[in-house]
Amino acid sequence: MIGRVRRRAGGLWLAALATVALIATGTAVAAPARFDFTITIDPVARTLLGEGSITLPPGKAATLSLASGFVAETIQLDGRTLPLGTAADRQTWRVGASTDARVVSVRWSGTLAALDATMQHRDTLGDLRAASSAGGTFLPAATNWHPMIDAMPASYRVTLLLPPGQRGLVPGRLLAETDDTSGYRAAFEFAQAIDGIDLMAGPYRSDERVITLAGDRSVRLRTYFTQALADLAPGYLDSVVGYLTRYDERIGPYPYTEFSVVSSPTPTGFGMPTLTYIGADVLRLPFIRATSLGHEVLHNWWGNGVFPDYASGNWSEGLTTFMADYEYQRREGEAPARAMRLAWLRDYSALPAAGDAPLAAFTSRTHGASQIVGYNKAAMVFSMLRDLIGEAAFDQGLRTFWSAQRFRVASWDDLRHAFEQASNRDLAPFFAQWIKRPGAPTLHIAEARREPTGKGWRVQVRIVQPLPSFAVSVPLRIRTELGEQMQSVDVGGLATTATLTVDARPLAIALDPDTRVMRRLAPGEAPPILRDVMVNARTALVILDPDPAYDEAARQLADAIADQPPKPIRPDDDVPASPLIVIGTTARIAAWIEQHALPPIGATLPQRGNARVWLARGRAASIAFIEAADTATLQSLMRGLPHYGGQSWLVFENGKVVERGVWPATPMVFGFER
Ligand SMILES: [Zn+2]
Repeated sequence: MIGRVRRRAGGLWLAALATVALIATGTAVAAPARFDFTITIDPVARTLLGEGSITLPPGKAATLSLASGFVAETIQLDGRTLPLGTAADRQTWRVGASTDARVVSVRWSGTLAALDATMQHRDTLGDLRAASSAGGTFLPAATNWHPMIDAMPASYRVTLLLPPGQRGLVPGRLLAETDDTSGYRAAFEFAQAIDGIDLMAGPYRSDERVITLAGDRSVRLRTYFTQALADLAPGYLDSVVGYLTRYDERIGPYPYTEFSVVSSPTPTGFGMPTLTYIGADVLRLPFIRATSLGHEVLHNWWGNGVFPDYASGNWSEGLTTFMADYEYQRREGEAPARAMRLAWLRDYSALPAAGDAPLAAFTSRTHGASQIVGYNKAAMVFSMLRDLIGEAAFDQGLRTFWSAQRFRVASWDDLRHAFEQASNRDLAPFFAQWIKRPGAPTLHIAEARREPTGKGWRVQVRIVQPLPSFAVSVPLRIRTELGEQMQSVDVGGLATTATLTVDARPLAIALDPDTRVMRRLAPGEAPPILRDVMVNARTALVILDPDPAYDEAARQLADAIADQPPKPIRPDDDVPASPLIVIGTTARIAAWIEQHALPPIGATLPQRGNARVWLARGRAASIAFIEAADTATLQSLMRGLPHYGGQSWLVFENGKVVERGVWPATPMVFGFER
């Protein structure tokens, strides 16, 4: 699972959420243990009472345990009551192996933590607690709120009892449900082995739609929204229908019988089998239905349908990012798809070598660097693989992988086998280079020569890279007197010389201008973005208005943007080599730019709004200009601006973004002399 606040195309974070279910590794998930529990929760008193049985398969000894805060009140093993002498006996107990299945009957209780709706998404990830309130209850399996069997996944059946006005669910098939003045009661079944039970409840109403997929399979779709979100339910159900139908056709049969979108009072985003649990404020964001929701639905195939082998690297986030987030951009057109690839490479290129790691080492998103590799680099590798073997073989490989690995734990090697089968090629070198090795190439055109051949022109181009080198197919765009053409060169080793032929006199060669290759960008290749001044500890600050209130607001805004408070410098100081934030009125910024002989890029922005933010290249690093007429306008940027690290320019109207964009990339171009 997991993640941190993430900035994305929509300006806000969120995006790739997480898969919560972690399954023990092994080839197949078979012969599971089984839970059969009745859970009664009072969200106001924050009490939980659990009762039921745990069936252990024959021949397996096991340790059962409960989190602190919960205690067993009675335990029976195969019908015999166990003594509960010490406090420790009530939280951990050992069951020896037997030739028959063993049944542990247990009754346990506990007090749940108070659910804190003010927490941030990153808090909800780092500090998972079983928490409850009238506004919402979330009991993640990982908190061990029910007795868990050490290192043994289990299937389950859960009956959930809640007071009137509350509804709840766990992943799985809804077997039965009643809701009346005596309260809510629902029974669920999860037939596959899974590492514990995630439970959610709240003051929900459910909207429902039942769809029929190919082969007469019916799937129950639901929203569990609070009354305040009721208007959004039909739209969310429409979107889920679209995603489920599309992925069902494209990959193979949806593996479950339900899918629910569940609102959370905290700003979380989790994906679990058969459902996604998303913060109410996030659900209100207009772009979630078109982005994160599809990502979460797709996790029912990748992550919660085929389980990643964490020991050899979690491929599921990269594949889901590629087939959801990236695919949605691609459907909008080549320009947004290219912009997403460029953003991946730009973030990767800003990553210090110490933060890099092979994809084989990625397990889950715990910090920005792990996302840059585990989600984005992995998605880029899938993009290169599709370029390499072709779309038809790629799609066939995915279908093969799905039908062979459904409900199994699968590795990158299993993916490789499926794509090899579909493409009939040896992909071992490709996977070894991109999955097992860290890093990416830094490519550069060292030299190019041209000569007429009589019929056209011959171009000899030398591409170099530092060691350790990568073998990669590099697209080149050759601009000639008659137009442009793309050609690819297979590069490997320190230097590769290739000979190309073109129709007309060549003028310039651009290296991978559409960013199709996983590589470190050259300095200046990526456009400057706000994040450049946010993440650098050496960022400096110039405030161009002497008014004390303006100065104070500017300083606070700069502190809110940058990870560390920027170092103030004077307006007359030279432009530093470090990143810089310049804050002032439009007129003062224009004068400062003229004084320091920088290009007046800001003048090209849409002339609207009451605040404008834009990035330029300074002497050696990016400069962020923040134009605001007065103190109140500066203060209006405090909340929103820090979320837009991925942008090169923004126009604000009273604190709201009305336009924004990223400057175009500047590809590496080798120009011939005239
Ligand atoms: Zn994800």
